[in-house]
Amino acid sequence: MNIIMLGAPGSGKGTMAKLIANDFEIPHISTGDIFRENIKNQTEIGKQAKELIDKGELVSDEITIKIVENRLKEDDCKNGFILDGFPRNLVQAKALENFAKIDRVILLEVPDEEIERRIVGRRACKNCGEIYNIDTYNKKACEKCGGELYQRDDDKLETVRHRLQVYKKQTAPLIEYYRDNIFRVEGKETAQETYEPVKIELSLVN
Ligand code: AMP
Repeated sequence: MNIIMLGAPGSGKGTMAKLIANDFEIPHISTGDIFRENIKNQTEIGKQAKELIDKGELVSDEITIKIVENRLKEDDCKNGFILDGFPRNLVQAKALENFAKIDRVILLEVPDEEIERRIVGRRACKNCGEIYNIDTYNKKACEKCGGELYQRDDDKLETVRHRLQVYKKQTAPLIEYYRDNIFRVEGKETAQETYEPVKIELSLVN
């Protein structure tokens, strides 16, 4: 099963994608995570992406599409995958059609004010990438691996607002583009509550 997670930054795409990946035994492919990994390892891609990411802008389509195309060729994608953060505009969506068929698009809907509140309180583990929110976990070390928790540079309020504008302008048109294949879900208090209807919906896809 090939799935796309759509939704604004901070809507909970990553958390939901992890739940789906775990239940349906498909890899979770986050382009944001791939870029952050490249930045950490100071690769050529990382160097090109860092400045744009820190400003809340999108990385070039050319680089991003190539990364995803190569990733989907890997063995673990044979039975499907869940894309988180890709496609992020129409150019990427059209390119994706050349190398993958999408079964379902999940759209997470969360009001802007809630998004701002969530992202500004978000902390990520430097080591394993686990995500926390200071509302529910306000510690300095990761519960899973003990790694240091930090706030992403692009999670600062001004950048978050810019990322929301970029989402509305460039990514939101994908909602119309995928209209025949979209499953909308309202982001609730807990990830598990939000996930329940999605799980049922996906178990109906064959
Ligand atoms: P995310 O973790 O999905 O919020 O992504 C963090 C940042 O990585 C974004 O704000 C973009 O700068 C970059 N990025 C992630 N996915 C894409 C994509 N599909 N196209 C372009 N840039 C991306």
